[in-house]
Amino acid sequence: MVAFLLTAGLVYWWMSQPSEEAREQLHAQNVSRGIDAAKAGVLASVDASLIPIEVTTPDESTTAAGAEKEVEELKVWTEGQAIEFEDKLEKNESVFAALQKRGLGNRNIHVVVSATGEKFNFRHSRPGDSWSASVDAKGNILRFRYQTSPEDIWETRLQADGTHICEKVEVPLEIKQTVVAGVVTTSLWQSMENAGLSAPVVGKFIDVFSHEVDFGAETRPGDRFALVFEKIYLDGEMLRDGRVLAARYITPSKEVSAYWYETTDDDQGYFNGKGKSLQRQFLKSPLSNVRITSVFGKRFHPVLKRWKMHNGVDYGAPTGTPVMAVADGTVVFSGWKGANGNLVSIKHKKGYTTHYAHLSYIPKSIKRGVSVTKKTIIGRVGSTGRSTGPHLHFAMSVKGRYIDPMKVDFMRGPSLAGQELVRFDEMAIKPFGEKMDAALSKGQQHTTPSLVAAEDAFGGDDLGEDETAYP
Ligand SMILES: [Zn+2]
Repeated sequence: MVAFLLTAGLVYWWMSQPSEEAREQLHAQNVSRGIDAAKAGVLASVDASLIPIEVTTPDESTTAAGAEKEVEELKVWTEGQAIEFEDKLEKNESVFAALQKRGLGNRNIHVVVSATGEKFNFRHSRPGDSWSASVDAKGNILRFRYQTSPEDIWETRLQADGTHICEKVEVPLEIKQTVVAGVVTTSLWQSMENAGLSAPVVGKFIDVFSHEVDFGAETRPGDRFALVFEKIYLDGEMLRDGRVLAARYITPSKEVSAYWYETTDDDQGYFNGKGKSLQRQFLKSPLSNVRITSVFGKRFHPVLKRWKMHNGVDYGAPTGTPVMAVADGTVVFSGWKGANGNLVSIKHKKGYTTHYAHLSYIPKSIKRGVSVTKKTIIGRVGSTGRSTGPHLHFAMSVKGRYIDPMKVDFMRGPSLAGQELVRFDEMAIKPFGEKMDAALSKGQQHTTPSLVAAEDAFGGDDLGEDETAYP
């Protein structure tokens, strides 16, 4: 069932892509018409409330159960009668349509949907989302509730002044810390799953160390791991795993640790035991699944037939492959530029600029002055300008000078220093380090089974205030 839902989700995601692009352009037009970006976002969300949620699934409506449901009489609002509705969004049903079906007027629906759209983006609606509404005798929606998960609920209420205001409902979540340590017996993934860790937690663990350890090549039976992570409960029931707060991996030749930490100026991420950031500010490459066809440096130019400095890295990829911004930044150039063909240049922090050349397509929204975040699709691979075939020429410059994107380790976030390092030691290294040490040493004593899983000794049912407060 889970696999089915995931597949359905992916299919939905895939299907929603082209319209997403169209929506982006519409969004860009709205902005250029002088409507501020926030308002345009709400408008897009409201538009989305009108779009039926299409999911490619086996057609269940032809089955007996489906047919029976069709026959079931639908409660509708009638003039002079207050009524309560409660239902789930159906396949191929938009939020708007769900309310219309209950006999409510478009105007009454619209005010509620646009107020809700201020806080919840209806593009994220999915079949099975729950909703409820209280409607008065005049057809006004007094209260509208939209729920996408046990912890994600939005409620819109009619105010005394006649307007509607939406708020995300505070759900009393309880966070417990769990420590797990174990020994690699087969593969790392398998060993961690055997230790009772969920796939998202294992994934996070591997991700945290992705630049420190080559798990494919370096993992050996006998290596040890430990981690502290959150388990999130709602009404006493385990809802999901939360953040990985600390992690350690030990091989005969090296030991790496990572601690999640939020700095005093609201930066957050993983740092090693010395306060060095384990996070990269830049993606390793602007394409996923890359094949490098030409590196930075002097080369014989295939078109010009002479030796020339190659000021970037070439990635071979089919025309149309999405190109992502490697870091947050501002677009400083977008359009045709001679031999570069269609080019996008993005300025980042600390004087770094990245350039993406020979693009076949640049979205209309990617224009000079626009802010982009890491992984925003800024164009598609092509062969425009001076190019022999589809590829991405990716270059990086610092204050006008080109540098080799592959060689520099500037990609790391800043290291912690001074008072921040002291605070990091107290808030992360000491408490989490101790827990991992304890779990690891217990694990060594008990060789079979070779793992220890313990609910946090300090936490338990009676969770200390300071524990939830940080991190
Ligand atoms: Zn190139």
